[in-house]
Amino acid sequence: MVNRHTTRVLVTFLNTGGGHRSAAAATAEALLDLYEGCVRVDLVDVTREYFSWPASELNRIYERLVGMRAWPWAVVYHLTDGARRFELLQRATGWLTGRSVRRLLAAHPADVVVCCHPLLRAPLGRALQAAGRGTELVTLVTDLASGHAAWFVPPGERWVVATEQTRERAAACGIPTECVEVIGLPVRRCFVNGDRRNSMAARRRLDLGLDSPVVLLMGGAMGTGPLLQLVGAMAISGLRAELVVITGRNRRLYEELVSQKWSLTIHVEGFATNLHEWMEAADILVTKAGPGTVSEALVMGLPMVLSGAIPGQERPNVDYVVDNGAGVWAPTPAEAAERVRELLERDRSSLMLMEERARSLAQPDAARRVARIIWASAGSKLA
Ligand code: UDP
Repeated sequence: MVNRHTTRVLVTFLNTGGGHRSAAAATAEALLDLYEGCVRVDLVDVTREYFSWPASELNRIYERLVGMRAWPWAVVYHLTDGARRFELLQRATGWLTGRSVRRLLAAHPADVVVCCHPLLRAPLGRALQAAGRGTELVTLVTDLASGHAAWFVPPGERWVVATEQTRERAAACGIPTECVEVIGLPVRRCFVNGDRRNSMAARRRLDLGLDSPVVLLMGGAMGTGPLLQLVGAMAISGLRAELVVITGRNRRLYEELVSQKWSLTIHVEGFATNLHEWMEAADILVTKAGPGTVSEALVMGLPMVLSGAIPGQERPNVDYVVDNGAGVWAPTPAEAAERVRELLERDRSSLMLMEERARSLAQPDAARRVARIIWASAGSKLA
């Protein structure tokens, strides 16, 4: 029930990939944890609930583009990545999303609106300004070490970013330093509470063997990247390990993996709702450098072999992880297989060091800190 003392927060995202939804959900969860009874949180997938054609096709178009070769998405990303260029683009295409965003705001009256997707940033900013009701807009940048100009178009007063690198991008787009807080990327409580010291218990629950190391392979929520080739390279490398492959929403990959015979024990999962448990059971994670997955692995102290990165928004995450010693970069399936084998069979001390570095880089409190910023933005006396 909403009474006049209830603070109303609208958390918005588009479900391109899975990282925006995860950060939005982690933020909503932390708000409810901290302020239960005093806050109402509406968590809205705007594409699914409000966009009409052709904007409703955005997720599909994005997933097609990043699932192709690297260059088509790289071209789109870099051509639009400039404050002035993006503003002009927005002026030309604002009609695509403007009306849907106004309907969204009318249906979810709020004290604070949280924007968790770059393509919602401009329409939300404009619609809130036009409504003139004084609703606060908090932009939660769900990138890790990058930041497309789309995140930083005016109007707006408050941005939350994960790293100093992203703060620098905000400054380059003309956002005053005092409007940007560096907090880390919110991750859900199940990852924060996950404990890899209980990996044997997790393996029993997940029906995995207890004798050999477990390698977890994934490519974000869309199962992006050469996962089939990665499994093939691991199979011929002589690696002694059990593989778990999370294919996410990629049904075709799932079918291909389960229809083949492999010389290693391999478990294939579709979209996992218990990824934290698979991370708990694993010795090492092979993944593209998605901000959500990387932040979750850091929080769980899980060493990473980064096997790819979506050009533009994910490439800087590779340097962030590698330079801080929490993982290694292996951009071909053969290299990834070799690095995994080396770390598991010959260089356990490096693996342990990577665990330590991951934990020290992690921001397990990010969701709660972001929740406090949102609460303060609502001007509540309880802040
Ligand atoms: N994820 C999940 N189940 C899956 C695959 C992915 O819950 O089977 C979640 C994962 O925990 C992460 C997000 O989807 O939070 C993926 O985000 P990331 O930024 O790594 O990549 P994206 O999918 O956005 O490209």
